Amino acid sequence: MKFASRLVDFDVCPDDPFRPMATPIYQAATFEQEHADSFSPYDYTRSGNPTRHVLEEQLAVLENGTRGFCFASGMAAITNITRLLKAGDEIVADSDLYGGTCRLFTKVLPKAGIAVRYADASDPERFAEQLTGQTKLVYVESPTNPLLRVIDLKALAEIAHVRRALLCVDSSTMSPYLQNPLDLDADIVLHSATKFLCGHSDVTAGAIVVKDAGLGDEIYFLQNTEGNALSPFDCFLLLRGLKTLKLRLDAQQKNALTIAQFLAGHKKVRSVLYPGLNASPFYKLQKQQARGSGAVLSFTTGSFDLARTIAERTKLFRIAVSFGSVNSTVSLPGQMSHASVPVELRSSRAIPEDLVRLSIGIEDADDLVEDLVQTLGGV
Ligand code: PLP
Repeated sequence: MKFASRLVDFDVCPDDPFRPMATPIYQAATFEQEHADSFSPYDYTRSGNPTRHVLEEQLAVLENGTRGFCFASGMAAITNITRLLKAGDEIVADSDLYGGTCRLFTKVLPKAGIAVRYADASDPERFAEQLTGQTKLVYVESPTNPLLRVIDLKALAEIAHVRRALLCVDSSTMSPYLQNPLDLDADIVLHSATKFLCGHSDVTAGAIVVKDAGLGDEIYFLQNTEGNALSPFDCFLLLRGLKTLKLRLDAQQKNALTIAQFLAGHKKVRSVLYPGLNASPFYKLQKQQARGSGAVLSFTTGSFDLARTIAERTKLFRIAVSFGSVNSTVSLPGQMSHASVPVELRSSRAIPEDLVRLSIGIEDADDLVEDLVQTLGGV
């Protein structure tokens, strides 16, 4: 079955005698047990919940994995993965990561004796030099946020596996509609489901999908032990949003290319970072490993003041952190979503202060272009 059909054709309510067309919200913390010496399928929502189960199964199917897990946020999902490591282990991560991930890696993990080193994963050969016998996890986003660099995921999987490390790919900018890292030999695919999977700015959620059964058991153990799974109501909202993922992303991506081309031809714009542009150094690689370039793009103008003016004067593009919603948003990553990157890392991260990040929504492309024209002036 093609992706559009898989998004809506699944068992939304296993074993329900009334066959509802939408998954009910099982808003129960605990479930009565038939026997005192054995468990029914569900006993306690931290350990498992029917609404969450449907969502987790559906995400596993969409990512071509075997097991899915949903968490209270993308950060909770990332934290879960880091719990697979112990003191003395190390992570080698790409240098362009979401600021919150950087904060976790830099401010929290060292306290648990886990070291994190950063390198540019868009240069796999040099990145490989950073791995040692202690490296247990390689962690990347692709395309990265906010610099839209594309990482060769197959090459990275090989590099990780030579060292017996796991490769975790944060695929939040893509969603399973556009990219399936597990098919490119990654061990773990992770999402801030707050973004495209939800798509409506109304849920904070995280998701993990794996293929390996043993790894799945470990992640489940941690999810149940630490109690950070997604609540039944949020699972319901996410299930609802997910059904229109293809429709939304098709429209968003089409708009994104129009905006990227408009900006690329504008005299006040210095560079447009979007792998969907022919001129992008990542165009070919992105085409090889994904089915589209998504709806997030960044650009520079050479002036921080102009960047701020653009963010503040656009009307359809609302100033907001996050991305992936049906509404277009604008942000200055250096001041907003990535302000939590520790100061000592900022110079190596090289997020230009004039960088403007746009997340493109489903509005009419003409209106979006017009909004940029009234701010930047005509081409
Ligand atoms: N990964 C990426 C690429 C993100 O942009 C974000 C948040 O913006 C996260 C992870 C964290 O997700 P959440 O905000 O759902 O905790």
